[in-house]
Amino acid sequence: MEHELVTKFNQWLEVKNITRTCPACGAEHWAEPQQVIAPKRFTGFLWDAKDPQPTIETVCPNCGYTAYFRLKSMGIAWPPFR
Ligand SMILES: [Zn+2]
Repeated sequence: MEHELVTKFNQWLEVKNITRTCPACGAEHWAEPQQVIAPKRFTGFLWDAKDPQPTIETVCPNCGYTAYFRLKSMGIAWPPFR
């Protein structure tokens, strides 16, 4: 993942007092960002790709617990070149 985005993500975690302890297994440093993903949202009738709500995915290296944080909540525009 892009260095600047990782830096912003890590700063945001600090501001929000989000700990890096895995809630599933208790391992430290679960919050290593893996990738930005843009899942389609289910609107009730179909999957809407127009408003995908991009997120940063983080995975615990010990147990595989996965968490997602919305870029919108961090004030980050995506794609960044828009
Ligand atoms: Zn874990």
